[in-house]
Amino acid sequence: MSDWVSIIHKLRLKQFRKRTKFQLIFIQNMGYQIIDGKKVAKEIQEQIKKEVEHLKQLGQKVPHIAAVLVGNDGASETYVNNKIKACNSVGFQSTLVRLPEYVTENKLLEEVEKLNQNEDIDGFIVQLPLPRHINEQKVIEAIVPSKDIDGFHPINVGRMVLNLPCYVSATPYGIVQLLEYYKIETSGKHCVVIGRSHIVGSPMSILMAKNTPIGNATVTLCHSKTKDLKQYTLQADIIICAIGSPHFLTADMVKEGVVVIDVGITRIESKDSPTGYKLLGDVKFDEVAPKCSYITPVPGGVGPMTIASLLKNGLLAAKKEIYR
Ligand code: NAP
Repeated sequence: MSDWVSIIHKLRLKQFRKRTKFQLIFIQNMGYQIIDGKKVAKEIQEQIKKEVEHLKQLGQKVPHIAAVLVGNDGASETYVNNKIKACNSVGFQSTLVRLPEYVTENKLLEEVEKLNQNEDIDGFIVQLPLPRHINEQKVIEAIVPSKDIDGFHPINVGRMVLNLPCYVSATPYGIVQLLEYYKIETSGKHCVVIGRSHIVGSPMSILMAKNTPIGNATVTLCHSKTKDLKQYTLQADIIICAIGSPHFLTADMVKEGVVVIDVGITRIESKDSPTGYKLLGDVKFDEVAPKCSYITPVPGGVGPMTIASLLKNGLLAAKKEIYR
């Protein structure tokens, strides 16, 4: 791609982030549409806020969500702080349980059990990853499924597979809502999911294949052992990329008109940013976007939807809509 085309697309993304009227006109004339996760998440949060106000008016308890944070990993701290901030902004009560990096597995399991037993807490998360000396799966399985608003417990995963009421893991749930909001047709389409983690890729592949309004796609699930991955992505109508490898998906790997959902978030140091780092997605946005019908940016695409979906799960937990 020539430099000036790349400059135009960089400008377009910059304009998108500034959200000016000029940008909207500009985007409408450029062929592809940016999926604005920030806007959709804000609308969902406004709706949740109204529901919380309604619960208050009825004299009912407001949802109370807890987060357990082990250690001082910068990215985890940011994610948890953003989740707590989002809880407060919609009127939820929130509790942060902080434990040191060297906490024992038993002590963490005790804390989980306390939250399981605490009747005032409607749902909670344990922020991952955990330090290496702790068995993550053991901790996930210690969370009572009715409070597992991350949807990682095998009972919730199993219920999701069987199409039974459950907490759907927040990132895949957020992506489904984005596709729904933008009325993106998935039925009969070929969806390629790249990455098969338990929290993103695998549940995403299941959701896209289900016989549901957002679903009914023919799904190919790719991973690090997939041979000639490009042959699959070139056939894809929808690509959901969740591998954590910056700028992995390039223009030569996609066909015209494809829908691209970029889940990847990699923090890299940046002197230009006030935070000292910037976030990179798995997709080389500047060159892939011109071939797309729809594409999510990073940041501002899937990330905000993950938090909004967690809040939705929190509200469901408080209303006891999944488990009575
Ligand atoms: P993960 O547990 O590390 O899994 C990565 C997956 O990608 C694995 O299945 C791996 O294959 C596959 N993979 C790695 N390199 C590959 C390659 N070159 N070709 C094909 N497949 C490859 O990661 P995750 O937790 O799913 O997260 C993925 C990314 O999404 C990360 O950047 C993470 O930060 C981001 N994320 C974002 C959000 C959000 O809210 N936006 C939420 C969660 C995660 P194998 O299984 O064969 O190893």
